[in-house]
Amino acid sequence: MTQTTYDLIVIGEGVTGLTAANRAARDGLAVATFEAELFGGLVINVNELEDSPVAEHASGVDLASSLVQANADLGVRSINEPVTALAADGAPLQVQTAGATHAARAVIVASGARLKRLGIPGEAEFEHRGVSQCADCDGPLYKDEEVVVVGGGDSALQEALVLAHFCRKVHLLHRGDRFRARQHFADRVRANDRVSVLWNTVAEEILGGEGVQKVRVRNTADGSRAEIRCAGFFAYIGLAPNSGFLPQSIARDPQGFVLTDGSLETALKGVWAAGAVRAGYSGLLSDAVREAETAAAEALARLK
Ligand code: NDP
Repeated sequence: MTQTTYDLIVIGEGVTGLTAANRAARDGLAVATFEAELFGGLVINVNELEDSPVAEHASGVDLASSLVQANADLGVRSINEPVTALAADGAPLQVQTAGATHAARAVIVASGARLKRLGIPGEAEFEHRGVSQCADCDGPLYKDEEVVVVGGGDSALQEALVLAHFCRKVHLLHRGDRFRARQHFADRVRANDRVSVLWNTVAEEILGGEGVQKVRVRNTADGSRAEIRCAGFFAYIGLAPNSGFLPQSIARDPQGFVLTDGSLETALKGVWAAGAVRAGYSGLLSDAVREAETAAAEALARLK
């Protein structure tokens, strides 16, 4: 049953979605936002944002909370339910959740992305018992212990540096022989004597008892194996888009990231995409905000 027709539905209450909704509501549109989990998206676990659009040294929670409050003040309706499908057989667009269908004249997909898993033995078994993907939240649990971090991108290096505040030793395993991460992260890792980098190294299995005790690793250059004693294991090996609920008519790249044109519109007219779910997104918070504003401005222009 169709309940209401909104001018704009924004799928996702991460920084991108909240910013897009804010921009559209300030211009007088009737807006609803949908969120499957907790608002805030990927930045919610970041204690100090690098390029925050609000106050210096703001946390992810500070930024997302201020946007949520601003949107509530503007009358944006926030619906805490996962979107299961987006149907586009005729206008308006239909956004479906488990219990209802919500109609919208335009949709912005800002459903973000989630951290990928390695899929090695022990990873699921020791989840919350040493296996974590939140250095800021769980770092203090490993005070003066040794931990393993996997990955060579910005996330792995940034989180290894967070963990180095707490831990005696951070073993940073990278499958390659050079980092993909930006230079300033690489420089800080090299300068930090608590972080030890193992190049050409992959994690094969996480072992333990009550909690994680060690990780079995293989050097891909010479085939040798070793075990690293550690209490915590953090994999930061990239992102997978939350795009599975979208219809076939919204084109995606082979990894599932949504393809858009220069105005961030998807292959389905009236549906835009912005932020981490979009192919070509840089990963920078400032670009998430910029993309959100572009998508909202384009939707506004279309609706007027
Ligand atoms: P990336 O995709 O940039 O990096 C993933 C890393 O994991 C790569 O080094 C990759 O290795 C490695 N990897 C991938 N799969 C495996 C696997 N199966 N086994 C072992 N290693 C693997 O992801 P990030 O999460 O680091 O970053 C995503 C985006 O977010 C980027 O655009 C980044 O710039 C951005 N970001 C920005 C931040 C900031 O501005 N402060 C902080 C964090 C992220 P290889 O290099 O060999 O492919």
